[in-house]
Amino acid sequence: EKIIEVKGLYKFYKAGETVVHALDGLDFTINKGEFVAIVGPSGSGKSTLLNMLAGLEKPTKGEIIINGKHLEKLKENQLVAFRRNNVGFIFQSYNLLPTMNALDNVALPLVFRGMDVKKRIEIAKKYLTLVGLEKQIYQNGNAMSGGQQQRVGIARALAMQPEIIFADEPTGNLDTKTSAEVLELMKNIVKEENQTLIMVTHDNDIARVADRQIRIVDGKAV
Ligand code: ADP
Ligand code: ADP
Repeated sequence: EKIIEVKGLYKFYKAGETVVHALDGLDFTINKGEFVAIVGPSGSGKSTLLNMLAGLEKPTKGEIIINGKHLEKLKENQLVAFRRNNVGFIFQSYNLLPTMNALDNVALPLVFRGMDVKKRIEIAKKYLTLVGLEKQIYQNGNAMSGGQQQRVGIARALAMQPEIIFADEPTGNLDTKTSAEVLELMKNIVKEENQTLIMVTHDNDIARVADRQIRIVDGKAV
């Protein structure tokens, strides 16, 4: 069952007199529950592609169909709703609120799910336990190690129960051993919840953990 369909996708940027072909004709599909790595060197178009798939930027040409919905045809307020309701993000730099504890970092976005505070705390505790942080729930983001912060980031994304999770270089700030642990954890929980995970990375070793790789060079799939 396919969840994402990309057809003839182009994104051009004007840079003075020249035009940069950031995405130069991409076609692919991603199935529900798949863990796909988008891999390629720096400047190959990975961030641009992720921004398109997340509805943060409009394509120059082409189609992005997610769950039967044409993203390129949605209005800005519809895109905001799409991002809030259908997708989750895991960032390279974690993006935690540093003066809040782990529990509040995970519980706060659940406001958008219309949950009362008791329910939000319950769900946040559940996901922080899943990522192995049950003893750190009252610790502030800035008092945690990188690996712990990324576990909070994973719990925060998963707790929202989005259909699709985008992870942009999620292990980019972690050492090799912690990277492997965080990847394994992320992969297992996402599988458990039958969510679709799309990870961007320039690192081949990291990409290998995925079910499938989409390799991009100069905006083209190779
Ligand atoms: P990656 O994420 O693989 O490093 P990017 O998607 O960031 O690649 O960039 C792909 C190409 O598009 C690069 O040549 C980059 O300089 C260019 N690019 C990306 N975003 C913009 C932008 N907003 N304006 C102009 N050029 C851009
Ligand atoms: P990454 O580290 O993932 O390769 P970059 O550092 O290349 O990402 O880009 C960070 C942000 O800056 C992205 O949102 C991208 O769209 C934008 N960007 C990248 N290259 C350019 C550029 N040449 N001009 C303007 N914006 C750019």
